[in-house]
Amino acid sequence: MNLILLGAPGAGKGTQAEVICNAKGIPAISTGNILREAVKNGTPCGLEAKSYMESGALVPDEVVIGILKDRIAQDDCKNGFILDGFPRTVPQAEALDKMGITIDKVIEIYVPDKKIAQRLSGRRVCEGCGNSYHVDFKPTKVEGVCDACGAKVVIRKDDEPATVLDRLKVYHEKTAPLRDFYSAQGKLTTVIGQEEVSDTSRLTLEALEA
Ligand code: AMP
Repeated sequence: MNLILLGAPGAGKGTQAEVICNAKGIPAISTGNILREAVKNGTPCGLEAKSYMESGALVPDEVVIGILKDRIAQDDCKNGFILDGFPRTVPQAEALDKMGITIDKVIEIYVPDKKIAQRLSGRRVCEGCGNSYHVDFKPTKVEGVCDACGAKVVIRKDDEPATVLDRLKVYHEKTAPLRDFYSAQGKLTTVIGQEEVSDTSRLTLEALEA
């Protein structure tokens, strides 16, 4: 099963990708996490991506498409995968088609813009493994320490309020058109993001079975 999670930054795609990964046993692939790792390691691709990411802009399509292509060629994707944060533009969606990848379902997690800023201000990300937390909705067991790997959890640079507004603008301009793209193919289901993570997870898993 090849799945796409669509939604604004902070809508909860990463959290739901993890839930589906556990329920279905297929890997969750976050292009944002792969890019942050590349930036941290100072690879050529990371050096190219850094300034785009810090300003809330999208990394050029050809860079991200290359990364995604390499990742889904790996063995653990043989039985399917969940894409979190890819595609983010219509050309990226078309690139998946050109790779011969059939997408089975696209789940959009919808959260109104005014709630996004509030959510992102509490988001924390693990410096080590990239796991995502929220100070109110999904706290770490020990403050500031990742449950999964024990590394430090920090505020993402692009979660600063001014950058969040830019990211939302980019989302509406470049990514939201993918709703029509996948709706026209009869693949889109929209889940309304709830206050409680567990409620959103239940609706997401129901949407998968529908
Ligand atoms: P995310 O963790 O998904 O919010 O991604 C963080 C940042 O990485 C984004 O604001 C973009 O700068 C970049 N990025 C992640 N995925 C993509 C993508 N599919 N296309 C372009 N840029 C991306």
